[in-house]
Amino acid sequence: MSKIILTGDRPTGRLHVGHYVGSLKERVRLQNSGLYDEVYIMIADAQALTDNAEHPEKVRQNIIQVALDYLACGIDPEKATIFIQSMVPELTELTFYYMNLVTVSRVQRNPTVKAEIQQKNFESSIPVGFFCYPISQAADITAFRATTVPAGEDQMPMIEQCKEIVHKFNSVYGETLTEPEIVLPTNQACLRLPGIDGKAKMSKSLGNCIYLSDEPDEIKKKVMSMFTDPNHLRVEDPGRVDGNPVFIYLDAFSKPEHFAEYLPDYQNLDELKAHYTRGGLGDVKVKKFLNNVLQEELAPIRERRKMWEQRIPDVYDILKKGTEVAEKKAAATLKDVRAAMQINYF
Ligand code: ATP
Ligand code: MG
Repeated sequence: MSKIILTGDRPTGRLHVGHYVGSLKERVRLQNSGLYDEVYIMIADAQALTDNAEHPEKVRQNIIQVALDYLACGIDPEKATIFIQSMVPELTELTFYYMNLVTVSRVQRNPTVKAEIQQKNFESSIPVGFFCYPISQAADITAFRATTVPAGEDQMPMIEQCKEIVHKFNSVYGETLTEPEIVLPTNQACLRLPGIDGKAKMSKSLGNCIYLSDEPDEIKKKVMSMFTDPNHLRVEDPGRVDGNPVFIYLDAFSKPEHFAEYLPDYQNLDELKAHYTRGGLGDVKVKKFLNNVLQEELAPIRERRKMWEQRIPDVYDILKKGTEVAEKKAAATLKDVRAAMQINYF
């Protein structure tokens, strides 16, 4: 069986370091591993419209921003097919058929949907399209016969729901669809990177992000303003590292060689954490270290992004070619689906 990757992002803003550690880095690694026959990366503009229907311009403009972030991180259009979701109408048709295989109460129980409804203050005014986005995600994944979905932890319930749809479809209409597996980052800290404000998730919608395209002074400003342990008031006070975003970011980004370079008094992160925990280590020192670590990681990404910003017509060309390839694949799956459902009348 072919090994196929499908993953993507909503073009609701530029991509941030949460996307980077939660999914992008893993995608680049898998793309370069040589283990996958096909890699599809989707810019999910149709899904973004489900909670941005009144801001189509925002979604439209961010398509190119997300594409630039992909190329900046090392997604290689020679190895990966980057495409725009709404330009593959087969996905919408699949969604419509899958909707019949899912109950309203099942979607209501999806914990990610539940949390997002609360966060967006939808409560009694949930757009139907938004409510159904897990079903449309199942269409995206199965259209490409994806076996592997590299994504952050918030996507686990979506993959579960997708598997249920695959089972239901195959049991009603016969073996047709492929069941996917999620690939989560192995580093715990990367599963769901918190925001600089300490909120549970760095998210474009929450405005608590360090963006991949931020300039060095913006990164520094954001790091120095980060939420830490609110009870760590004086340098000599003992501090908490658990749930402290500065230390979670260090878990996600720091490498042993960073210590020799920027903080030679410590051998490794465990020593730094121990000092913070017993007291005598100030937030400013830790934040300055984190700033150095992030600057080192993000500088080459920013440089590559600037290079691609000079080649916008080429980026559109990559998206156009990718979308053509993606549509062919989705059309072939849709044909199989219609045949299985016996709705191919002529
Ligand atoms: P929005 O607020 O519009 O939903 P978002 O910041 O949540 O935007 P998405 O486009 O929904 O970003 O997510 C794209 C991918 O990035 C998903 O695989 C998701 O799991 C991952 N991801 C997003 N935010 C984080 C985070 N803070 N930590 C780890 N992974 C993340
Ligand atoms: Mg999201």
